[in-house]
Amino acid sequence: MLPAAVDVLVVGLGPGGASAARVCAAAGRSVLAIERNRTFGEPVQCAEFIPNPMGAYARHDGVLRQRIDSMQSFLPSGAVENSDFPGLMVDRAEFDRAIIRAADANGAQLVTSASLVAVDARGHLARIRQAGVEHVVGYRVLIAADGPHSPVAESLGLPALPVVQTRQYTVPLNRPYTATDVWLSDDYPGGYAWLFPRGEWANLGLGADKRIAGDLKTPLDALHAQLVEQGLVGGEIRYRTGGAIPVGGLRDSLIRGDVLFVGDAAGLTHPITGAGIAAAVVSGEAAGEAAIGHLHGDAEALADYDEEMHDQYGPALERACERRAFLNEHWRTPRAQDDAVQRRGWIAFSEYFNDGDRAA
Ligand SMILES: Cc1cc2nc3c(=O)[nH]c(=O)nc-3n(C[C@H](O)[C@H](O)[C@H](O)COP(=O)(O)OP(=O)(O)OC[C@H]3O[C@@H](n4cnc5c(N)ncnc54)[C@H](O)[C@@H]3O)c2cc1C
Repeated sequence: MLPAAVDVLVVGLGPGGASAARVCAAAGRSVLAIERNRTFGEPVQCAEFIPNPMGAYARHDGVLRQRIDSMQSFLPSGAVENSDFPGLMVDRAEFDRAIIRAADANGAQLVTSASLVAVDARGHLARIRQAGVEHVVGYRVLIAADGPHSPVAESLGLPALPVVQTRQYTVPLNRPYTATDVWLSDDYPGGYAWLFPRGEWANLGLGADKRIAGDLKTPLDALHAQLVEQGLVGGEIRYRTGGAIPVGGLRDSLIRGDVLFVGDAAGLTHPITGAGIAAAVVSGEAAGEAAIGHLHGDAEALADYDEEMHDQYGPALERACERRAFLNEHWRTPRAQDDAVQRRGWIAFSEYFNDGDRAA
């Protein structure tokens, strides 16, 4: 049974929503968190890399798959740049479920197969469909952690976030590997291709702007065949996935009345790398704290959340958007196969962080 009203309604139980639910429930607030999928943490739509500072979230059983020490960036000419780029490969389903279990242990009510249909922000009411039945749940704060397409944002009439599409195969890895490999090429316009190792398997995928790239299967199959030929991976495909990644940077505001946006729904995902797990957790926790403050009568708490996220993430996301705009001038022109252009558009190169010289 869904409750008639709660202090905090969380929509979406990825890492952002689970983190928010955990924090709010730990403070003793009544929390309902709804997830439209049937199983928490699945289907996995992720390459499963997290940066080292997220290590505390990878300590639970079954989460950590292997350590990463470096990144190899392959340029169009065939040149390879090796960078220190430590991090962790995780089992993303277990990563999400570890946070969800903590929210559950703190007393949050967590419900699967329950979809948000619409929000009446003025009335503080949410319409939720579960098993074909529609329920109305009242809330005091709503945390929108509902991913790149955010039905909450849509229901509130907010603009959709621009996205790139991805396609990924999990394939056998023929030898131990501790680097993340990244291919920069006009074959993946608006994105890049990756091989991220996770023990005996690896996630091989690519992201691209479908308006330019069209089909993603052909280039992914070609890269897979090339790596099979090189002997790095096997031909078997154990798991296929994909999904959208927001690439437009932060929403102008992460709050709308008593609704807070976190993670992908907020546009916090990095528009160049597509990384968003860490930002989802950080923003989910911060939104949870803001909701608690707001419910305690702190009139500034929600606005402070918005300001804090803009301060913390704004500059890096703005740079990434600027680099996307630069690359967008060159896709499907000979310049896109110029190493200098790609170096300016990828985080492993100093050119990415240099302002002013547009000589590339
Ligand atoms: C192929 C791919 C690879 C990626 N690889 C990486 C990586 O290696 N490292 C990294 O840091 N990031 C990666 N990302 C990005 C990362 O997965 C996201 O940034 C992260 O999942 C954002 O978390 P979130 O909690 O904001 O949203 P999500 O994880 O998207 O969770 C949103 C949840 O809301 C639910 N939902 C949606 N609508 C409704 C509704 N109406 N009612 C109820 N529930 C709803 C969804 O089912 C979903 O479970 C990748 C993304 C893709 C697509």
